[in-house]
Amino acid sequence: MENFNREELKTIFKDILSIYSPTRNEKNVANYILNFLEKLGAEIYLDNSYEIYGGNSPTVFAKIKGNVEGEGVTFSAHMDVVEPNENLKIVEEGNIIKTDGTTTLGGDDKAGIAAILYSIKYIVENKKNHQDIFAVFTPGEEKGMLGARNINWQEVYKNMTPAKNTIVVDNAGKAEYVAYKAPTCTNFRINITGKKAHAGLAPEEGINAIKVLSEIIAKMNIGRINELTTSNISQIFSDFPTNVVPDKATAYGEVRAHSDENVENMLNEYKKIAEEVSKEYKATFEIECEKQYPRLDTMDDFKFAKEFVEIYKKVGVDAKLQVIGGGSDANFFAGEGFNSIIIGVGMQKVHTTEEYLEVEEMIKTTKAIIEYLDLN
Ligand SMILES: [Zn+2]
Repeated sequence: MENFNREELKTIFKDILSIYSPTRNEKNVANYILNFLEKLGAEIYLDNSYEIYGGNSPTVFAKIKGNVEGEGVTFSAHMDVVEPNENLKIVEEGNIIKTDGTTTLGGDDKAGIAAILYSIKYIVENKKNHQDIFAVFTPGEEKGMLGARNINWQEVYKNMTPAKNTIVVDNAGKAEYVAYKAPTCTNFRINITGKKAHAGLAPEEGINAIKVLSEIIAKMNIGRINELTTSNISQIFSDFPTNVVPDKATAYGEVRAHSDENVENMLNEYKKIAEEVSKEYKATFEIECEKQYPRLDTMDDFKFAKEFVEIYKKVGVDAKLQVIGGGSDANFFAGEGFNSIIIGVGMQKVHTTEEYLEVEEMIKTTKAIIEYLDLN
């Protein structure tokens, strides 16, 4: 690829790494991005939804106007990193960029940001013909996708309408997977109300909520339900003195599936079990559910995802389509109607102090992005 400057890409990456940006404190990275893109002539819109969750950085929307007709494409990466990340010391060893082992690297997702920024710079500076290019940089991804979850889309659309085809540059691992499908997740809470009594003097007058809850959980199907559905119980809570028959007990869990129907089916099954067991003990139950994120799935029968697999082949990467088991910003973009895929940039052992980045992988994905944008 003519004029591709790998050192410049690495420098951008290291510049962003050195800006400390844990969740809710991404402002300085946002300013770096704004400065970078404004120099390239981008139009900017800032979504200030961070006020809702006590952050300090907007979601940055940018548009580079194209000179070719067409819908264009949207890129996205998140600006926050997993702690501990303060006082980062970058260590370079050949193809690897890592830390001294005391902090995370934050290559998740700053490698994604670097790949997007450099690609846009390359396209603009080399005067390539291109369609409209949009980029969305979110805060708060690592703490439940706070940024993407809270975007005020109605306000966004008054200012800018990003292209529906969206590439989220935030997949862990090598630059070889194009993820197009991820589950929806619903958290649930089971509350049992029994009856309090003295455990020594009159236990028969009580209804033990812990006992009821335990029996419900024992009957619940938990773990891997089928290939695309999983379920978990992660917390149980009740706290009484030993001489009291407890009248309250609560369990917390989640169900993930690739269809809303499967989530609903699981929750209905749990409800039925809770109903039966509670009835038997004359206790009452309550199940509260809260959808955590919508599902991600192809909206054009794989057309866009397959197109990007072909682009990867052009830069020598034998890419494959991938189904993933976790939620990310892409789920919220999908929920808003964006046809999203997630691609990798070589980030490894993310969310640990052993995190490192394979530079060659970041280069491959950056070249793939440029290849995709370049319409010459
Ligand atoms: Zn990430």
